[in-house]
Amino acid sequence: MFKSIQYKIVAIFVLLILTVTVVMGAFLTTNIVTFYHNEFSTMMEQVFTDSFISEMSKTAAQDNGAENLDRVISTYIGPLGIDTYRFYCILDASNASVIKSSDSELSKNLDMSDNIITAMTGARGNTVNSERPYMDYAVSVGEGENKYIIYVRDTKNELNGITQNVIYVMVKSLLVALAITILLAYLLSRTITSPIISLTKRAERIASGNFENIPISDSDDEIGRLSNTFRYMSSTLSSTIDEVNTEKNKVETILQNMTDGILSFNPQGELIHINPEAQKLLGASYIGGVSFDRLFKELDIDVRIGDLLYIKREEPLEQIVSLGSKYIRFNFETIMKDSKPDGVLVVLHDITNQEKLELSRREFVANVSHELRTPLTTVKSYAETLMDTPFDDVGVQNRFLGVIAQEADRMTRIVRDLLTLSRLDEKRPDTAPPDKIELKSFLEGIIERMSISAKEKKQTITYRQMNPVADFYANKDKIEQVIINIVSNAVKYTPEGGKIEVFSGKIYSDIYIKVVDNGIGIPKENLPRIFERFYRVDKARSRDTGGTGLGLAIAKQIVEEMDGRISISSEIDKGTEVTITIPTA
Ligand code: ADP
Repeated sequence: MFKSIQYKIVAIFVLLILTVTVVMGAFLTTNIVTFYHNEFSTMMEQVFTDSFISEMSKTAAQDNGAENLDRVISTYIGPLGIDTYRFYCILDASNASVIKSSDSELSKNLDMSDNIITAMTGARGNTVNSERPYMDYAVSVGEGENKYIIYVRDTKNELNGITQNVIYVMVKSLLVALAITILLAYLLSRTITSPIISLTKRAERIASGNFENIPISDSDDEIGRLSNTFRYMSSTLSSTIDEVNTEKNKVETILQNMTDGILSFNPQGELIHINPEAQKLLGASYIGGVSFDRLFKELDIDVRIGDLLYIKREEPLEQIVSLGSKYIRFNFETIMKDSKPDGVLVVLHDITNQEKLELSRREFVANVSHELRTPLTTVKSYAETLMDTPFDDVGVQNRFLGVIAQEADRMTRIVRDLLTLSRLDEKRPDTAPPDKIELKSFLEGIIERMSISAKEKKQTITYRQMNPVADFYANKDKIEQVIINIVSNAVKYTPEGGKIEVFSGKIYSDIYIKVVDNGIGIPKENLPRIFERFYRVDKARSRDTGGTGLGLAIAKQIVEEMDGRISISSEIDKGTEVTITIPTA
């Protein structure tokens, strides 16, 4: 409270009044004292002229000199100003004892003043010593035995009374003046401080984000101008903050909805922003408040914030890390501000799919090379053996040529299947118009053809239509390929004398075709990968039966191209059941 301007203004006014009063009081009292002293000296000089003194000396020389002197002096009471505060006495010049006095009370125990001593030497004692509590005047008259000192002393009681009175009046007026001053200063300072206080309150509200409308100030003084400037500043600030907020919201929305993860760090390595995607990608590796260096040490990425900020790189740093089942690419960018490094931005991109695709592509290429090399090696070794075989050993020659032809067929099948798959991969839309399919006769035709190889293995193959299906339009060749692949698998993986059943029917608007066998079945652990390219449960057996490992992959690709589904369920040594559903709508 004592620090407020209001208090300071009041204090300044009070000090001002105090100073003025004290100076005035001092001035007045010294003036009064000087006046009184001068008045005293003038009165004395006017009475004690040289002629008066020589006259008095004559009077002193007479008998009863002291009494005569007293008589004469008593007639000068008026000019000497003798009253209750001022008295005169006639002193014996030899020992300064009082002989006669106008006031016996005051002249009792009269002390030896400087002026008395001066007069005793015969000179005039007329010095006024303001430090003394009295003023006096002493002149010596007469000679020898009749030498006296006429002595006048003023006790200054009157002067003291006057000065006391002056001080009393000054103090009284000071108190009144102070009261008025405090009131006036208070009112004046209020006119200055109240707009400042209201301005301060507004500033506080603005600081807490409340941009109210500030009224225009009418007054044209400094405070009025300050108010108006403040008003302008507040409205500019408000619109600037609005703009910044809009921008911030935009950026925030972008960051929130980005499919890439974003992390930003300040130059000290403290995390200043992380978007939800980054949190999701980092998973358990992200702990709130983690520093740059610790986070990336945890992720096993050899990078420190200092390297990024202070070591120049040709290209931005990029690292691929596997986190759980995911592959994430980290891109590190240095944030620059006024061409100085000001932090680091890390962009996280989930490349799991690309990475998986790349992996399966590499696997596929390796598989293809392997699958083609195996028959080629066989062909080569048989051909070499043939070259060494005696010219006339026709039996061996025929057997070997048979194997070579068989391997060539296998390669042809692999290449044919690969071509089919690559055509399917291209996802080229069918240009030819779809064929009208009458399912029952269509399936019967395929089974008729397949029953030749089934018969070779003494297998029975039957077809049953569960419910009639209306004719529909689709690519006949492709559906035929799917059914051939599935049924030929059933024939291949079912021992001699086995049973293969084909069912067809309609479920809602889809048609379904089910192929059931009672063959060797597929182990549970192999089922999830059964539709992968080149995946086979038993490579040797598949090869023996002429399989390429691409049949089910092709079937699945075709069915999915038609928006259908293919599923397989199997039990080892019991049999396998493959179902396809194709929408006809
Ligand atoms: P393949 O040309 O080797 O038959 P597929 O893609 O047609 O290749 O089949 C993949 C693998 O699935 C086969 O190698 C076989 O092990 C298994 N399989 C497919 N159909 C059956 C079935 N009906 N019974 C048992 N195993 C099967």
